[in-house]
Amino acid sequence: MIEEKLLLQALLILAPVLLFSLLPENRRLENNSLIFGIFQGGAAFLCVVFSYQFEGFHWDLRFVPFVLALLYGGPGAGLIVFSVILITRTFIGGEAVIYSYFTSIATVVFAIFWYKKFWAYTPSNRIKLAILGSVWSISFSFGMFATFRTLAGKPLNKDLILSPDIILFGVISIVGIGFAARLIEEIIEREKMRDDILRSEKLNTMGELAASFAHEVRNPLTVVKGFMQLMHQNETGKNHEYLTLALSEVGRAEMILSDYLNFAKPQFHKIEECSYNEALSEIIALLNPFAAKGGVALDGSLSKEHLHIETDRNQLKQAIVNLVKNAIEATQEGGLVSIRLYNKEGQAVIEITDTGRGMTKEQLSRIGTLFYTTKERGTGLGTCVSLRIINEMGGRAFYSSELEKGTKVTLLMPITKKGCSHQPHSVLEVAK
Ligand code: ADP
Ligand code: MG
Repeated sequence: MIEEKLLLQALLILAPVLLFSLLPENRRLENNSLIFGIFQGGAAFLCVVFSYQFEGFHWDLRFVPFVLALLYGGPGAGLIVFSVILITRTFIGGEAVIYSYFTSIATVVFAIFWYKKFWAYTPSNRIKLAILGSVWSISFSFGMFATFRTLAGKPLNKDLILSPDIILFGVISIVGIGFAARLIEEIIEREKMRDDILRSEKLNTMGELAASFAHEVRNPLTVVKGFMQLMHQNETGKNHEYLTLALSEVGRAEMILSDYLNFAKPQFHKIEECSYNEALSEIIALLNPFAAKGGVALDGSLSKEHLHIETDRNQLKQAIVNLVKNAIEATQEGGLVSIRLYNKEGQAVIEITDTGRGMTKEQLSRIGTLFYTTKERGTGLGTCVSLRIINEMGGRAFYSSELEKGTKVTLLMPITKKGCSHQPHSVLEVAK
C-alpha cells in the first residue's frame, strides 16, 4: 500500500517541473517564480491529499515541492506552497495537525538560512542543498513523530524506526528531490544557452553590419581629413576657427569608426606574453590625470604574483581602459575608483569598483548594447568594444551595480602560459 502511495507521490513531485519545462518561450525561473510556485503548490496539495496515513501522521512528500519552491522560486513561490500546505493540512485535520505546522516552519527556516547564498552555488551544489533541505524536513518530521508518540505514551521502538516502509520513504524523498532539482537545473541551463545563442547571433549581425559600413565611410573620411588639415594650415581668422572645430569632429567620427571596426572584428596584431600587472599599472598611470581632472582618486591593488596572458597587449589595455574610464566618468568629485587584480583558482580576476552614481536594473540590463549611452557626448561603444575583446580573449565580465552607491565590474580572465586560447562565449552577465 505505502509503495503505491509513494510511487504516486514520486510522480507528483516531478510533475510541476515537467509542466514548467513545457511553458512556451521564456522559461526563466526569475521571471516565472509565481507560476513555478503555483505548479509546486498544486503538487504539494496533491501530495497532502494523497498522503499515507500511519499512526495519526500523514506521510507524504509535500516538503519536496515546498523546498524546491522556497529555494528555486524564492519567497513568493515559497509563500504560495506554504499557504497551500497549511490550508490543506488544516482542512484534513486530525490530532497531528499541529506537528505538521512545526515541520513546515522548520522547512521555511532552512530556506531562509540558505536562500541568500543559494544562487551563488554551482548547479551541483544547489542540487545537494535541495537534498539537504529534504533530509532536514524528513528528520524534523520524524522528530515530531517521535514527540507525538512519546506524548501519547507509545515511544518509538527500533522495529518501527528501521521498518522497510520508513526507509523506503526516506530513500524516495531523497531520490525524488534530487531528480526534480536536476530537472530544474536542466531547464535553467537550457534557458542560459538559448540566451547565449541569441546574444551571439545579435553580436554577429551587428558586427558584420558595422564592419562593412565603417569600412566604406572611413576611407573617404580620411581623405576629407587630409584636405582639411591642409586648409587648416593656410587659413586664418574665422575659417581657421571653423576648421579647428570641424577637424575635431572629423577626428571624433574617425575614432567612432575605428571603435566600430574593433568591435566587429578585434584585430590581434601582435600576440605576446602580457602581464596583467604591467598592463594595469600602465592603465592606472595613463588614466590618473584623467581621474584627477574630475577629482576622482584612482587606486590600484595588484597581486604580487605576476599573472600573464598571451594576447595583443594593446587590445587588452583598450578593453580595460574603456571600463575604467566609464567608472571614472560615473564618479563624482571626491569619489574613488579602485582596481584590483588577484589570482582565483587559476583565473585572473580584475575588479573595477567605483563609488559613482551606479545604475538601475534597467540600465544594467542595457549595458553592452551597441549605442547605449547616457552621456551627452557618449558613443555607447566603449563597453561593447571591451566586452567583445574580453570575449575574444576567453574572458568573462560581470556587472553589479547599486544606484547612488557605485558599480563593480568583475573580469574573469584566463591565465595562459602558451598560445592564446580562444573560447568565445557569452561574455556579459549581469548580477541580479
Ligand atoms: P559611453 O561611455 O560612450 O556612454 P559605454 O558603452 O562606455 O558608452 O557606456 C554605456 C553606458 O553605460 C554609459 O553611458 C553609462 O550610462 C553606463 N555605464 C557604464 N559603466 C558605468 C559605471 N561604472 N557606472 C555607471 N554607469 C556606467
Ligand atoms: Mg565609455
